[in-house]
Amino acid sequence: MRIGALEAGGTKMVCAVGNESGEIFKREVFPTKTPADTMPDMLDFFEREKVEALGIGCFGPIDPRRDSPAYGYITSTPKLAWQNYNIVKAFEERLRCPVGFDTDVNAAALGEATFGITRGLKNSIYITVGTGIGVGVYSEGRLLHGMMHPEAGHILIRRHAEDTFAGCCPFHGDCLEGLAGGPSLEKRWGKAGALLAGEKKVWEIEAYYIAQACVNYTMILSPERIVLGGGVMKQPALLPLVREKFTELMAGYVKTPRLEDMESYITGASLADNQAVMGCIQLALSCLPSER
Ligand code: ADP
Ligand code: ZN
Repeated sequence: MRIGALEAGGTKMVCAVGNESGEIFKREVFPTKTPADTMPDMLDFFEREKVEALGIGCFGPIDPRRDSPAYGYITSTPKLAWQNYNIVKAFEERLRCPVGFDTDVNAAALGEATFGITRGLKNSIYITVGTGIGVGVYSEGRLLHGMMHPEAGHILIRRHAEDTFAGCCPFHGDCLEGLAGGPSLEKRWGKAGALLAGEKKVWEIEAYYIAQACVNYTMILSPERIVLGGGVMKQPALLPLVREKFTELMAGYVKTPRLEDMESYITGASLADNQAVMGCIQLALSCLPSER
C-alpha cells in the first residue's frame, strides 16, 4: 500500500509516503507559511504520490474527536493564519481517501508504540522537549483525547531553589514548558541549549523539572514506559540525570519491576526522528475501513 504521512509543524511540514510496515519511501519538506501558500504544495504532493490513506500529526491545539463538530480543525493556535482551519477536510476533498488526524506528539507516541521502543506495551507516553513541551499519551492501547487532547507540557511544577528565571510561557510564565522548553534555556542562560554542554547547573535544573513531570505522569497515567524525545534531549548528559532525579523524587513510593529497571522505564526515542511520521502512517492505517 501507499500510505501518506504529514507531520504538520509550526515551522515545517514533513510530507512522506510509506507502507504498512512503517517503511518510508519518499519525503518532502515545505516551510509552514499560510494555508493559501502551503496547502497547494502538500495537496499536489500527496495526489501525485497516489496515496490510499493519509495520517496527519498536527501542531495544535486541534480537535481530534471524530464525533465533534470541530473535528479536523486546528483551533486556537497562536499561528493565526491556521486558526479555525479545517485541514482534514481540505485533504479529504482533494484526495478522496480516508484521513486520520491527531496531535504531533500523539503521533510520535503512536509511532513508538507501533514500530518503536514501546511496541507491545498498552500504556506509554512520549514527551517531546523541544521549542515547546508536549506529551502524547497511549493508554490501554489507544491514544488519549479526553475533552480535547492532553496539554501536559503546561503542568505546574515546583521551582528549583536556585532558579530565579521567571519562565517564558506566554500563558503561564513558569509552567513546565516555560521553565524547561528549549527557549527557556536560552533566555535563562543567554545561550542556546546546544552551547551549554558541560554546564553542570544548567542540566541539573533542567533534569529536576523534566523528572518532576515524569513523576506526575507516572502517578496519574501509570505508563509502562516513558519515552523522552525532542531537541533538548539531544544533550547527552540530560537523560541519566532525569532518571536519577526521578528515582529521588519518587522516594520509593511505587514499587514495580518496571521502576526497578530505570534505563528501560525512562528511555530515549528509538526511530531516528521518524517517530511522528511513522505514527502518521499508523493513524492513516487505523482509519481504513477494514480497521474500523
Ligand atoms: P521543535 O520543538 O521546534 O519541533 P526540536 O525538537 O528540534 O524542534 O527542538 C528545538 C529546541 O531544542 C531548540 O530550543 C534548541 O535550542 C534545542 N536543542 C537542539 N539541540 C540541542 C542540544 N544538543 N542540547 C540542548 N538543546 C538543544
Ligand atoms: Zn504554559
